Amino acid sequence: MQVIRLRALSDNYIFLLHDIQQNVAAVVDPAEAEPVLDKLDQLSAELVAIFNTHHHYDHVGANLQLMQKFPEVKVYGGAEDRGRIPGQQIFLRQGDRIQFADRIGEVIFVPGHTRAHIAYYFPPEKPGEVGELFCGDTLFAGGCGRLFEGTPQQMVDSLNKLAALPDNTRVWCAHEYTLKNLQFALTVEQDNTELQNRYLQVQASRQRGEATVPSLLGVEKQTNPFLRYSQPALQLITKSQNPVQTFARLRGMKDRF
Ligand code: ZN
Ligand code: FE
Repeated sequence: MQVIRLRALSDNYIFLLHDIQQNVAAVVDPAEAEPVLDKLDQLSAELVAIFNTHHHYDHVGANLQLMQKFPEVKVYGGAEDRGRIPGQQIFLRQGDRIQFADRIGEVIFVPGHTRAHIAYYFPPEKPGEVGELFCGDTLFAGGCGRLFEGTPQQMVDSLNKLAALPDNTRVWCAHEYTLKNLQFALTVEQDNTELQNRYLQVQASRQRGEATVPSLLGVEKQTNPFLRYSQPALQLITKSQNPVQTFARLRGMKDRF
């Protein structure tokens, strides 16, 4: 399974999964139809699945247009999103399995950004290979999604589920927010040398116009403050040792950043 990253809207990414043997494709969070249809044309591949992480328009905007082009396509989303995802046919819960070509993915329920948000995780096929995590607006490179419908406790639980995956998991988040996220991260954890180095790398990548997604989960654990709220420096700056409160205060600081 090859993952192809497509740009959409101002800062969204759409991920196209391509199975070369069967020449079928799936798409994660299609914000816009055009980049998806162009790429499918180029590959001469058939679209068989749309995997939505949550109902926001910049993640489901092209569902109906893609269904028109590919009437057989199956539209997946969270069970709690019933009625909010255009064309949704399959209603997924924590632990459900999905299939794309010869790959089996797992559904992780990650409420917080919205109350229905899910992530899709494809474990590595063989030992030594990487897994693929499609986490929408829950975990970002260097940050996390805003809490629109969920509580800090829910988001902490959701991020913990993602952080429990192997360190070499590739994190395919839905927005290019990394530079701004790391600018904030440096304000709360200046002495983290991995963070300082990552910031310089990301800054250089962005100056060259390159994407910073995917990142690796292991790198997120070392540099993303929203996975590091138990670190003494972050407890100090938020004046709390309670993990949920520390997280909530960090999220509040980021909202105002
Ligand atoms: Zn969203
Ligand atoms: Fe979004």
